[in-house]
Amino acid sequence: MKKQFAVIGLGRFGGSICKSLMNEGMDVLAIDQDEEKVNEFASIATQAVIADSTDEKALKSLGIRNFDHVVVAIGDNIQASILTTLILDEMKVKHITVKAQNDYHETVLNRIGAHEIVHPERDMGIRIAHNVVSDNVLDYLELSDEHSIVELAAGPTIDGKTIVDLDVRSTYGCNILAIKRNEELTVSPEPEVKLYEGDILIIIGADADISRLESYWI
Ligand code: ADP
Repeated sequence: MKKQFAVIGLGRFGGSICKSLMNEGMDVLAIDQDEEKVNEFASIATQAVIADSTDEKALKSLGIRNFDHVVVAIGDNIQASILTTLILDEMKVKHITVKAQNDYHETVLNRIGAHEIVHPERDMGIRIAHNVVSDNVLDYLELSDEHSIVELAAGPTIDGKTIVDLDVRSTYGCNILAIKRNEELTVSPEPEVKLYEGDILIIIGADADISRLESYWI
């Protein structure tokens, strides 16, 4: 059976979630208090309704309790976001994801039943900062406070060397998950595989280890 999602708040973030879920073939109920936003999503979402999510009765009448996953994507109105999350938690919604606007907002959301908190602006900021600080870091995904997956462009120092030669795991404590060369992707490369300048290496490890490896490989 298709998963049933509801997205509350159809700003840039909520709107983008809604469109992506529809592209994935999910059922999405799009909710906003702004009639214009709802009209815009009437032809995009499975269903789009005007409602104030801080109104418990309105959420009940939409049967929000029965949805598999509710995303609260209310932006600037932190109070409305918190109240909505409280109501959803009281209704025992199975999975609640909430967009946090700042750290204070996140702390409160953690206490009141949000199952997952996302911080899109902050996370994207961190990701872009990594990309601009180092020319060799092409992309970056934070796994925890200390671990990441990075896409690194291989520099001349490692040209022609194998993964064994470089002793990546024991010297740097990192693992090469995959190598992209031209359009080809080799996942879990064998230790004998040779690396060439310009290869794109997808590496997992502790941030400190990745930094060490980066400084040697550039
Ligand atoms: P973003 O930063 O993701 O663009 P916005 O703050 O622009 O976020 O958009 C948030 C959306 O949430 C707006 O369309 C707004 O009308 C909607 N919204 C805010 N409060 C409520 C509420 N109580 N009930 C329903 N929708 C709300």
